[in-house]
Amino acid sequence: MSEPRFLPRAGLQALIDALTGAGYECVGPRVRDGAIVYEPMASADELPHGLNDRQAPGEYRLEAAAGARNFAWANGPQALKPLLFAPRESLWTVARDARGRLMFEPAQPVARPRAVLGVRACDLAALRLQDAHFRDGPHPDPAYGARRDALFLIAVHCTHPAATCFCASTGDGPRADSGYDLALSELDDGFLVEAGSVAGAVILRRLPTADATQRQRETAAREIEAGAQAQQRALPGTDLQRLLFERLDHPRWDEVAQRCLSCANCTSVCPTCFCYSEHDSPRLDGGESEHYREWDSCFTFGHSYIHGGAVRSGTRERYRQWLTHKLGGWHEQYGRSGCVGCGRCITWCPVGIDITEEAGAVCAD
Ligand code: SF4
Ligand code: SF4
Repeated sequence: MSEPRFLPRAGLQALIDALTGAGYECVGPRVRDGAIVYEPMASADELPHGLNDRQAPGEYRLEAAAGARNFAWANGPQALKPLLFAPRESLWTVARDARGRLMFEPAQPVARPRAVLGVRACDLAALRLQDAHFRDGPHPDPAYGARRDALFLIAVHCTHPAATCFCASTGDGPRADSGYDLALSELDDGFLVEAGSVAGAVILRRLPTADATQRQRETAAREIEAGAQAQQRALPGTDLQRLLFERLDHPRWDEVAQRCLSCANCTSVCPTCFCYSEHDSPRLDGGESEHYREWDSCFTFGHSYIHGGAVRSGTRERYRQWLTHKLGGWHEQYGRSGCVGCGRCITWCPVGIDITEEAGAVCAD
C-alpha cells in the first residue's frame, strides 16, 4: 500500500481517462430505476452525486443529501458477483456436422480488461470467497478466471453505512484493507488515493494529485471509524457454526418459513452465493443445442432435486439450508463464514427477513 495522495474532486475524470487510456472498460456506480448499479461509464458526471441511500428490511430509497459527494451511500443490489459469475452463461454447444456426427464446442471465455470504480470493503471480502470457490479450488472455472485476471479494482472506503449493514461485526469493513488496486477515501473536496498494487501505482502516477495533509488523513480515518460505529446490526458473536447445527429442530425455522416467500431474492443479491444449475436448450429441429448455466438458489424446488424428488421440499428446510450453510458449513469449506455483512439480503427481501435477527433467534440462550 502506498502513501495516500490527494486528488481533487475534479480529478475523478482524470482517473476515468487514465483507466480508459490503459485499455480498461470503466464500470462504476450509476443511478438506474431508483437504485445504484454498476454500469459502464465514460464520464465522472455519470456518478451519483448528492445522494444517500435509505435502507431498512425490505426497503431501499435514494434521497437527496447535502453536499456533492459521489459515494455517500452504502451499496446497491449488485456487488461484483454478476461481473465475474455471470447470471446466465453458455458452457458449450453441440451440433451435427455434414456426416451427422455430434460436434461439441466449448465456450471460449473472452474477457476484456475492466476497471470497477466504487467497490466496497464487503465486496472485496466477498470476492475473496468467490475466488476461493471459482478460481483457487480443485476445479477452476475458466470463464470466471479470465474475467478475474482482467479486473482492476478501485475501492472506496465506506463512510455511510446503511441501517442494514453489519460488516464491522463480520470483520469485513468498512475500511478496505487489501485486494484493491487503488483505494479512495472521499472527503468534501476530493479523495485520498492509495495504491494497493503495481498496476494501481502506475495509474496513480498519471493522476493530478498533491501531497495529502495530516488533517486530510485524520479526517478520512475518523469518517471510516464513524462508519463502523454507526452500524446498527451485528451477527451474534457466539459459536454460530456449532449452535446452528445443534439446533436444526429449533421452532424458529417454522416461524421464519411462515414469512419467507422462497423467492430467492436474498441469494441473487448475496455477493457470496455461488449456486447454479445447468440446462440444455436444443433447437427445435434437433440440429444444435446450447448447454448453459444460470444462477440457482437454496430456495428453488429444483436445486435440491435428486433422483426421486427434492430433499428440501418446504420453505422451512430451504431457509434452514441457506442459513446453516452460509453461517455454518462455509467454515468447513472455506475457513470462514459465507457472510460479509453487506446487508443486501435484508434490504432486498420483499418481506424484510433479517439474517442477523434469525441467526440471533436460533442461537439465543
Ligand atoms: S448473507 Fe446477506 S448480509 Fe451476508 S453477505 Fe450475503 S447478502 Fe450480504
Ligand atoms: S428470505 Fe426473503 S428474499 Fe430470501 S427467499 Fe425468503 S422471502 Fe425471498
